[in-house]
Amino acid sequence: MTSTENNNNGSDETQKTKLIFEDADESMYDGGDNNADVADDITSADYYFDSYSHFGIHEEMLKDVVRTKCYQDVIYKNKFLIKDKIVLDVGAGTGILSLFCAKAGAAHVYAVECSQMADTAKEIVKSNGFSDVITVLKGKIEEIELPVPKVDVIISEWMGYFLLYENMLDTVLYARDKWLVDGGIVLPDKASLYLTAIEDAHYKDDKVEFWDDVYGFDMSCIKRKAITEPLVDTVDGNQIVTDSKMLKTMDISKMASGDASFTAPFKLVAQRNDHIHALVAYFDVSFTMCHKKMGFSTGPKSRATHWKQTVLYLEDVLTICEGETITGSMTIAQNKKNPRDVDIKLNYSLNGQHCKISRTQLYRMR
Ligand code: SAH
Repeated sequence: MTSTENNNNGSDETQKTKLIFEDADESMYDGGDNNADVADDITSADYYFDSYSHFGIHEEMLKDVVRTKCYQDVIYKNKFLIKDKIVLDVGAGTGILSLFCAKAGAAHVYAVECSQMADTAKEIVKSNGFSDVITVLKGKIEEIELPVPKVDVIISEWMGYFLLYENMLDTVLYARDKWLVDGGIVLPDKASLYLTAIEDAHYKDDKVEFWDDVYGFDMSCIKRKAITEPLVDTVDGNQIVTDSKMLKTMDISKMASGDASFTAPFKLVAQRNDHIHALVAYFDVSFTMCHKKMGFSTGPKSRATHWKQTVLYLEDVLTICEGETITGSMTIAQNKKNPRDVDIKLNYSLNGQHCKISRTQLYRMR
């Protein structure tokens, strides 16, 4: 899953796509015969509130080869999980995961998609000759009715930036509790969140310190806001200063919705003398039901995905010596007003030779 809503991500191609559509003057499309197909009945306002209706966001996800190929390999190399099974595809988008399952011999696939993309998925299913195996249902998982009481397999690509942004995990858990047969499987079934620390003077200057002096004016009130918004971007492997620690692992087949809100302690050990400007979070997912365990990581040492990494800038620069540790805890919770947003509370301290600091910072993914 991806999103255009995370507007702090300056380098996001889909964000640009969204802006173009917001700016588009609908009257441009009025009148001309050959424009009928271009405009159809979706307006820029629809895209603003429902970015998944536009193909651009699906193009970005499909072209994320790490992501899409992993799902394809899981399905094609483990047909025993899918063959003759009733499958529910939660948030089907273009229907790609449903098509993989149909090709792998599923008895039937219910592809549920709430955006306008559902209509396109129907067309795709039909033109690929799978209309008898795949039923596309347009609507929210929480509101639709399935024609069958139970399913054997739930498949979904629900992961957001920082794993939990957009909170689609709740939708998967809802579907699991309502329709998954006893002994049924959820793909993927494991997701883990990790934390590490980086040197990032250059980019912190550009994104945070920038506001101190903008063409000679003090805009540091924006700096205070900027630092509370985690930045989605790729981190170079050689920026990493400490080891990496797992904050939390979640078993999607068993967890309760509340388990996605938690406090986890961490202890990061410096692997060299350096300056630390930010902590970096990333996740991996795995499919443990496969013959051989399969999955992918969105970490800075792995091939880049559209999720990139999530960078949380620190107010202080930590001067750290090899072997010293940053200890702390991270609390992650759904925002109360907007459950798609994630509130993050970070406590950290360093009691080092050159630097003694203890601080709490609040962030919000929005
Ligand atoms: N499965 C597709 C799309 C993944 S993106 C692929 O792998 O390429 C997640 C999709 O879930 C989006 O298209 C979004 O519109 C849909 N979605 C999100 N919440 C939903 C809900 N509650 N009910 C149905 N669909 C949902």
